[in-house]
Amino acid sequence: MTQEFIKKIIEASAATIAEHAEELTDLDRAIGDGDHGINMKRGFTEILNISDDISALPFGKALAKAGMTLVMKIGGASGPLFGSFLMAAAKAVDDVPSNRDEMLKLLDGGIEAVKMRGKSDVGAKTMLDVLAPVSDALRAADADLINVARKAAAEALENTRDMLATKGRASFLGERSIGHIDPGARSVVLLINAVCDVLETA
Ligand code: ADP
Ligand code: MG
Repeated sequence: MTQEFIKKIIEASAATIAEHAEELTDLDRAIGDGDHGINMKRGFTEILNISDDISALPFGKALAKAGMTLVMKIGGASGPLFGSFLMAAAKAVDDVPSNRDEMLKLLDGGIEAVKMRGKSDVGAKTMLDVLAPVSDALRAADADLINVARKAAAEALENTRDMLATKGRASFLGERSIGHIDPGARSVVLLINAVCDVLETA
């Protein structure tokens, strides 16, 4: 059961990243160095390649292995950041979250790790600007969590457009970073939607 679930999450995540790789790279071309789609695709393709090994593990260990894979396979900033997210999430939960509180533990554990690793916080125009609003929205919601997460993610992504980047490569552009959505934040939206798709069909 857990094995099948992990496999579906891996397949859905790798598929959406591969499908949108060009879009992610275009976003990164506008305010970075144009490699975000390539980076993410490389990492998630590797996770897909070893999905049998990963999905044979207990949930926490599967998250940790997926995270390690991203750290090792992605050269850019996003590898260690997404990797740290998954490795910290792995420490926060042992099993597949079965309720909102467990889901929030996973998410918030990951968010703290990204903040630490990236020496970053909300408002710097990064992946955190989708992760944190989704966590906040889930905490405040009392029903329909999947749609709450999707909606919060989409709105938060759009809100990155007007932000000034103060972390990562986009910060080198200063004021010129304003007017573009953040590529890492777009990746988070894709991944959240992939997880939601799997949860809806489970
Ligand atoms: P690189 O910036 O090394 O080329 P990528 O292009 O793969 O790496 O990833 C860029 C994304 O990483 C950004 O869009 C942003 O969301 C995220 N990012 C960069 N630096 C930080 C940071 N310090 N904290 C959080 N996220 C960051
Ligand atoms: Mg880049």
